[in-house]
Amino acid sequence: MHLGEEEKHFGSISPPIFHTSTYAFDEVDEWIEALDLAEDREPVYSRTLNPTRQLAEAKIAALEGMECCRLFSSGMGAIHAAMMSCVKAGSHIIAVDSIYGPARKLLTDHLAGLGIETTFVPGDDPADFEKALRPTTSLVCLESPGSIVFRLQDIKAVCDIAQNAGASVMLDNSYATPLFQRPGDFGVDIVVHSVSKYLGGHSDVVAGALCCNKERMEKLIPGEVDLYGAALSPFSAWLTIRGLRTLPIRMKAAEEGGNVIAAHVCSMGIADKIMHVGAGDFPQAELRDRQMNGTSSLFSFIPKDQSEDGIRRFVESLMVYQLGVSWGGYESLVVPILLEPMDWDEPKYVVRLYTGLENLEDLKADLTQAAKTAGWV
Ligand SMILES: *Cc1c(COP(=O)(O)O)cnc(C)c1O
Repeated sequence: MHLGEEEKHFGSISPPIFHTSTYAFDEVDEWIEALDLAEDREPVYSRTLNPTRQLAEAKIAALEGMECCRLFSSGMGAIHAAMMSCVKAGSHIIAVDSIYGPARKLLTDHLAGLGIETTFVPGDDPADFEKALRPTTSLVCLESPGSIVFRLQDIKAVCDIAQNAGASVMLDNSYATPLFQRPGDFGVDIVVHSVSKYLGGHSDVVAGALCCNKERMEKLIPGEVDLYGAALSPFSAWLTIRGLRTLPIRMKAAEEGGNVIAAHVCSMGIADKIMHVGAGDFPQAELRDRQMNGTSSLFSFIPKDQSEDGIRRFVESLMVYQLGVSWGGYESLVVPILLEPMDWDEPKYVVRLYTGLENLEDLKADLTQAAKTAGWV
């Protein structure tokens, strides 16, 4: 809440937005010293350092329990910088199958073309990673829980395997937020976030975060941070600070909302399978309880009715849940997704529900009326 805000400007409770591109100096020596792009220098130019952004970064680093954080103009900006900082031509990456779609595309369409190969593994079993290791493996990419099928990886076990082989581990922690999971505590080297989701929390900012230790960040700053230039604007950084203020109460509501709505979907009998990390019968419950302190309000279900018509009617009949990608804001969202075979034989439709901060009775009633319109109940 208060970290980094000891110094008040005119007594202002809300921190100022330093909306400046550049900074002026009185003395040449002072300026030359600042030009050395180290972590604790004075800002010289806002692509690299900006006081509003630094305040948001200090708060997120503290939440993650990691030494440093850098904010980017999107989650993908952070993921891109993190990946590139760990590879060179000829490197090999191991990534979990269910990694965020565009991150997967970055690996398959883009990095592959630069001579960086990726092996995708299911990731439920740490041995998957061990088997995929090569002498050139320099990075392991995790997302736990995944944000469509909600599978977990054993973070500590995978870190031990990867780091013994000299590879770094990156984990996308967007689903859990640092309140419900601190991957650094289990050995993860780089924690990334789509701040556009729960951390921002109001669907009014697109931002990304990268957290790591000081030694790694000292290399990242003059490298991927400064040279790729995906810097977050001071205003978006300020919106991020504003969002973080209410993170604890929003995540508490998210946990309750997810559990109540998943139970409601279950009780309607419209689903073949519900993929909710917080469910009592979640298949990886033991692992969940070992590495997470809570679960959020994003989950998917596989409708019994797999007809495109039925799914379309259900989604279009919802009135409070709006059809749209993303999640983590105040508003409930729904997306139908056609999933490739996993532990089933042919592509299946899943419906992903994000429960926002609306009244839970309204949301339950909304799902019930849409299920009726679709002819599901
Ligand atoms: C949205 C999302 C991202 C990408 O973040 P952007 O801010 O949209 O670039 C990465 N990982 C997960 C799990 C996401 O949901």
